[in-house]
Amino acid sequence: MADSATNSSTDLTRGVRANEIADGGTGDRFFAVGAHCTHYHGPLAEGIVVGDTVRCPWHHACFSLETGEALRAPALDPIACWRVERSSDQVFVRDKLPTPSSSARPRSAGSRQRPSSIVILGGGAAGLAAADMLRREGYDGPITMISADQDPPVDRPNLSKDFLAGEAKDDWIPLWPQDLYGEKRIELLLGSPVSAIEPAERTVTLANGARREFGSLLIATGADPVRLPIPGHETAKVHYLRSFADSRAIVDLARSAKHAVVVGGSFIGLEVAASLRTRGVAVDVVARGHVPLEHVMGTEVGRFIQSVHEAHGVTFHMGERVTSLAGRKVSLSGGSTLDADFVVMGVGVKPSTTVAEKAGIAVDRGIAVSEFLETNVPGIFAAGDVARWPDPHTGERIRVEHWVVAERQGQVAARNMLGLREPFDAVPFFWSQHYDVTIRYVGHAERWDSVKIDGSLDRRDATVSFIRGGAKRAVATVSRDRECLEAELALEHSTVAVRKS
Ligand SMILES: Cc1cc2nc3c(=O)[nH]c(=O)nc-3n(C[C@H](O)[C@H](O)[C@H](O)COP(=O)(O)OP(=O)(O)OC[C@H]3O[C@@H](n4cnc5c(N)ncnc54)[C@H](O)[C@@H]3O)c2cc1C
Repeated sequence: MADSATNSSTDLTRGVRANEIADGGTGDRFFAVGAHCTHYHGPLAEGIVVGDTVRCPWHHACFSLETGEALRAPALDPIACWRVERSSDQVFVRDKLPTPSSSARPRSAGSRQRPSSIVILGGGAAGLAAADMLRREGYDGPITMISADQDPPVDRPNLSKDFLAGEAKDDWIPLWPQDLYGEKRIELLLGSPVSAIEPAERTVTLANGARREFGSLLIATGADPVRLPIPGHETAKVHYLRSFADSRAIVDLARSAKHAVVVGGSFIGLEVAASLRTRGVAVDVVARGHVPLEHVMGTEVGRFIQSVHEAHGVTFHMGERVTSLAGRKVSLSGGSTLDADFVVMGVGVKPSTTVAEKAGIAVDRGIAVSEFLETNVPGIFAAGDVARWPDPHTGERIRVEHWVVAERQGQVAARNMLGLREPFDAVPFFWSQHYDVTIRYVGHAERWDSVKIDGSLDRRDATVSFIRGGAKRAVATVSRDRECLEAELALEHSTVAVRKS
C-alpha cells in the first residue's frame, strides 16, 4: 500500500526501491491507492489490510486494493487506484486506473433470472445502499424508491452530531446529489408513505392511492421513535429525532434556547445533549437506571460517558422519569421540576413493521428474514433496523440499529434480489460520538458474564471486551481504532450454528 509505506514527498512515478517500502500487509505485492476513505475521509494508512482489501479505521468501510471499489459500506464510492509496475527492485506507480464499472463484474453478469422491476420501500441507509448496489451489479430494470421522508436519503447519524451542533452545513447531509437519482434511473417518491403491500398481486399501495408493481421488493422501513404518553405533552415543545426535518426543527429552537431537557439516556439522547452543549444550551438529562447506557455498554463505559458529559456541564437525573409536562415545566418522579425551552425525547425506537405485518409477512420483534435477508414471502426481502436475521456469530436471531449494518444489509439484499444467494454474515459495527470522544463497537452482546478493560477509560485510551461463555462477544474501543478493526476481523472468524427460534 503506497500510502502507508512511503513518505508523502516521494515521487512514486519515478520509482522507489521495493525494500524501502514498509510492508503494509500485502507481502511482496504492491498497490497504489488514494489515501482517504470516501465516506468521511478516514486515513486508510491507519487502517488494516486484509488480503487484497483495505479497511478504514473510522467506520470500517472496505475497499479493493486491486480496483479501488468500495466493497463494503459505509463508503459507497471507490477510492482512486493506480497501476503499479515492478522492474527488478524498483516499484513504479503508473497511470490511474478507470473507476470500476458495474458492467465489468463477472459475478452477477450471468444469465440468472432478474426481477422485472424492483421497489425499495424506504429511503434510508439500507434502501439507498441497495439501490446503489443494484446498479453497480449491472441491474438495468426499473428501480423505484418510496420514502415517507420529505428529504432524499440523508446521513442520518450526522443529524444528532455535527449538523445539530452547528458544525456541518445543510449540503453535507444528503447522501447523494439530487441529480444522481436521475443519472442512475432511480425513481424517487418522497413524502409518500406506503399503506399496503399486496404480495399476491406483487404491488404496493401508497397512502395517496397510487400503486406500484414490483418483481422483487425490499422492505427497508427502519424504525420509529418510541413515543411516551406523558401527561401534558401537547402543552410543551416536545421533539423526536429521526429525520432531517426533525433535526432542523431542533436546530431552529436551539438557536434561541437557553435550556433543554433530554428524556432518555440512549445514544441518540446523549448525542443530542452533546450537540446542544456545543451550541451553549444548558442540558438536563432525565433517564431511568443508575448509569446511562449500562444495558448496552456496561457500568464502566456508561459511567465514563456520563462523566464526559458532566465535564461539559450536563446535569443527569438518573433513576427518574418525567411524570408530566406543562408548558415550560417538566416534573420528575423524584418530586423536582425543571424549566425547559424544549424537550427532546430519546427513549429508543421500535422497528417499523406495521405494513409488512398487515401483508402477512412474518414478524417477530422485527421482520424475520433468512440468512439471505429474504422474508417468508419469496422475492420480498428486508434489511436494516427493521430486519431480524440469523447471526452466525452469536448463533441467535438479532436485530440491531446500526448505520453500517443497515447499509451492508441493503447491499447484500440487493445482490440476493439478483439471485446471488449471498448470506449476510458481517460482524455488526457501530460508533457513537460525544464531544471529542468517539466510541467504536464491534460484535453483539446483549448479555455478558464479565467485562475486561485494557487501558484506561479515564485516559480515553481503552479496549473493553464483553465476554460470555468464555468467548469475546463484542469489543468497544476509545482511541484505539486499529484494535477495533482487529477485533472485527477476529470476530469474523467465530461462527456458530443459529438456533431455530
Ligand atoms: C439521529 C440519529 C443518529 C444516529 N447515529 C448513529 C451512529 O452514530 N451510529 C450508528 O451506527 N447508527 C446511528 N443511528 C442509527 C442509524 O441511523 C440507523 O441504524 C439506520 O438509519 C437504519 O437504516 P434503515 O435504512 O434501516 O432505516 P432508516 O434510515 O430510518 O430509513 C427508513 C426509511 O423508511 C421510510 N419509511 C418508513 N415507513 C415507511 C412507509 N410505510 N412508507 C414509505 N416509507 C417508509 C422512512 O421514511 C425512511 O426513509 C442513528 C440514528 C439516528 C436517528
